[in-house]
Order: sequence, then C-alpha cells, then structure tokens
Amino acid sequence: MAKAAFQTPRIPDLPEIPVVVEGAMAHSRPFVAAPDHQQALGFPGELVDDWHDTAIAKMGELLGKYRGLRVFLDSCVKCGACADKCHYYLGTADPKNMPVARQDLLRKVYRRHFTLAGKLFPKLVGAADLTEEVLEDWYRYFHQCSQCRRCSVFCPYGIDTAEVSMAGREILASVGLGQKYSNEIIGKVHKIGNNLGLPQPALADTLEGLEEDVEDETGVTVRFPLDDEGAEVLLVTPSADFFAEPHVDGLIGYAKVFHQAGIRWTLSTRASEAANFGLFIGSYENMRKVALRIREAALELGVKRIVFGECGHAWRVAYSFLHTLAGPFDFLDPRYPVPQHVVEVTHDLIRRGALTLDRSANDERRVTFHDSCNVARASRMGDAPGGQFTLPREVLRAVCSHFFDMAPDTIGESTFCCGGGGGLLTDDLVELRVKGALPRMQAFKEVVERNRVTHIAAICAICKSQFAKVLPYYGFEMDQILSVHQLVGDAIVLGGTD
Ligand code: SF4
Ligand code: SF4
Repeated sequence: MAKAAFQTPRIPDLPEIPVVVEGAMAHSRPFVAAPDHQQALGFPGELVDDWHDTAIAKMGELLGKYRGLRVFLDSCVKCGACADKCHYYLGTADPKNMPVARQDLLRKVYRRHFTLAGKLFPKLVGAADLTEEVLEDWYRYFHQCSQCRRCSVFCPYGIDTAEVSMAGREILASVGLGQKYSNEIIGKVHKIGNNLGLPQPALADTLEGLEEDVEDETGVTVRFPLDDEGAEVLLVTPSADFFAEPHVDGLIGYAKVFHQAGIRWTLSTRASEAANFGLFIGSYENMRKVALRIREAALELGVKRIVFGECGHAWRVAYSFLHTLAGPFDFLDPRYPVPQHVVEVTHDLIRRGALTLDRSANDERRVTFHDSCNVARASRMGDAPGGQFTLPREVLRAVCSHFFDMAPDTIGESTFCCGGGGGLLTDDLVELRVKGALPRMQAFKEVVERNRVTHIAAICAICKSQFAKVLPYYGFEMDQILSVHQLVGDAIVLGGTD
C-alpha cells in the first residue's frame, strides 16, 4: 500500500453520500505557474496589481464570447440534483466540491457585477464582491474540478460546471494565477511538439527500440515510423504512449493493427502529442495553436487520414472542435471521417474480418472497461448514437473471452471520472486524486468481487496514469490497468514481415 500524508478513504460496500465537512479540502492548492510559463502562453507572469478590475473585465469578455456561460450562471434553480454527483464531493465531503457550490463561486461575482439585482441588492440575490478570499477559493476549487461533466447529465437544465471551471481558470490565468502543471506542459507542446519535451532524436530512438522489442518477442518486423512522407495515416497519440506503462503497450497494439491491415502509417515529430491542455485552462487561443500543429503535420507529410490514439480529452477536442480550430481538412481522403479514433479503425477492421484474433491470448485476464469522461460525455464514435460506449466494448469482446461491465449507474453516460482529469494529474494534487477516485474504486471493487475481474481497461492516457497511481492506495496493484489496444495487440495473430 502506498504511503500518504492523508487517509485514503475506506471503500464502502455500496455507494455512500458523505456527511458534509466544511473546508475539508481548503488546503488543496496546486503549484502556481512560474512567470516564464505564464508569459510563454501570453498571460502575465505574476498576479497583476489591478487583478480585481482585470478579472471582472475578463469575465465580461467571456460572457460576451460564450453565451452558454451566461445561461449557466443565470439558470440554476438550486434544486440540488447535482449535489451528490461529483466524485470530488463523494471522495472529500467538502461542500464546495458540490457542483452547484463550485458554480456559485463564480456566480456570486457575476451577479454582483453583471446583474441589476446584484448591483442594487447584493445580499438578497447571493451576490458578492471579488475579494482576495474569493480569488483564493477560485484557485483552490476550480482546480478540484476535472471538468468531467458528470454533474451536467443530472442537472435538469443541463448546466455544465466544466464550462464554469474553465472560465474560472481562464480568468485566473489572465490575472497572473495560472496553474504550473498545465501551463508548463502547453509551453512544451508549443516549443517542442509534445507534453514531455521529447525531442526528435529521442523519439526516433524510442520508436526504434520498440520495433526491436516487438521483433524479439514475435519474430515479425512491425514498423513504428516517424515523419514518413507519403504515409496514408497520420497517428496523433498522447506522448505517454511512447514510454509509460500501460500506454506503450497500447501503442504496440496500434502498430500491430496497422501492420496486419497493411496500412502505411506514421507518427510526426511536429504533432508528437495528441493532448491539448488548452482545453483544461479554457484558452481558445492556446487550444487552437496546439491543434494547428496537427494540420501542419498532415500537410507536411501528405497523409490521407488522421487517426487519434487512446487519449480522452484529445478525442473530445478532435471530435468536437478540430474543424473549427484547424480546418478545413479538404486535402484528406473524403472516404474517411476526419478525425478518426483508433478504436473506430480497429472496430471496422474486426467487423470486416481483416484481423486474425486469438482471444485465448487474453484468457488469464478478466476485464472490465472504464468509460473515460471526455469520450463518454463530450464525443462520439462510429455512426450510431452511443457508439463511444458500444465500439470499445465490441472491440474488447472480440479480443477477450471474459468481459464484465461495472454497475450500470457508474458507466456509460454516468461514468465516474478516474479522479485525475482536467489538468489535475499532478503530484501536488495527489490527495485530491486519491479521494476523487473513490467512486470509481468502489465500482471496480464491486465487479472484482462479483465477477472475479482482474483488470480495468481504458482508452485515455490520463486515466491510465491516474489508475496506475491510485490503485495501490485502495489495495489493488498498479498493473491492473490496461490499454484497450494492449489487449488487441496481444490477441492479434501476426503473419508475414514487411
Ligand atoms: S464537472 Fe465533474 S469534477 Fe467538475 S463539478 Fe461536475 S462532476 Fe465535479
Ligand atoms: S442540478 Fe442544475 S439547477 Fe439543480 S442545483 Fe445543480 S446546477 Fe443548479
């Protein structure tokens, strides 16, 4: 069991709604971005002197740009339906982690400055001034929201707290209070091309090593090409796929799929990262800049298709916004969707019988599937509604004999966040991450006991890293998390060499 300076919650036999503990997570505060990291993204280096007026002006700008934000701030009726739906509230008992309370941190200042009633009778309408204390609460509690959108599924008005916390973070960054983890990473993507700051020679070396490993293990030459001009497919994948466990086994799985299907594919140095942390900090400009690398890489390499690897929020940005951010993509092959998810590619190949699979290769694994929030609640796959839920499961069932779902109210549209999404996957927030994982761990434990499940599979790099970290806190092993394409790769029967 991993050691920590806090108590790991006990997993209850059935889901429990905790008794409120005021201020339980008031100490949780991620590191603030250094001046260099702030300025590289176009934000002030440190808290500006006129932070109050700057913040109010930024809020006004966002209200003008994003109509939904004003609607969300105006329409809450305090029905309480969302109160017990956030994993951070369920895991920490801090009432400010109830979605409605999180929204109210911004709403009360909005009312004070942007509504007539709030200007004239602030106390009557719950309006409040933006004080240092409120600003501090914004920094703490907008960094205790993984922007998972679970609460919005249960809100009768569809109020999306993720949008509120994105706006909150954007205002914070614009007064000089950006978050170190996200902003440092975005800077590396702008400068080098990936979250890790991995330069081209190191990436080429890593891929060569993977080619050798697969050849040693299988006797087959499976290529991991980089910057291969004229390839059919550009694969854009999270950089964690190049080295982290179990991510890298997923990358090996994609390579085996392309190899067996005879699809010439390539990775790109310029776009050696699928993640787009611009989403997490609510910055359209940064999101656009990160997305444009993909367009440039596709043009540079002359590919016909763009396929995304296993990354939850990257798929949200790609599926929902890629055309707006970096389109048009009229230079790609119109017979394929733009973009495509690697699960869609594999699913289609399996359906057409283009892959030979031996499910017995995974017989020792009894597998469940974690629906990642951004895939589940902010995107789709395939042609039919709900494809983002059915396609990964159909792929898993095609490659494993023993697949079992977790409880229905914890999967699909109601899936629980892993606890580390939305720019919170950093060690300075480990207590929050462990506690926020409680509902997912409870559901996992239940399926382990019910069906003797041994592994949980996912299609998100953040979920995989988060589970590898938090599983041991709850008495599981870190290697019980798998990539979906790791299971695919292990089941593929390879034939022939290049
Ligand atoms: S978006 Fe997710 S993390 Fe944020 S308040 Fe809603 S349920 Fe909680
Ligand atoms: S469910 Fe919606 S309307 Fe009800 S309290 Fe929550 S945010 Fe407000």
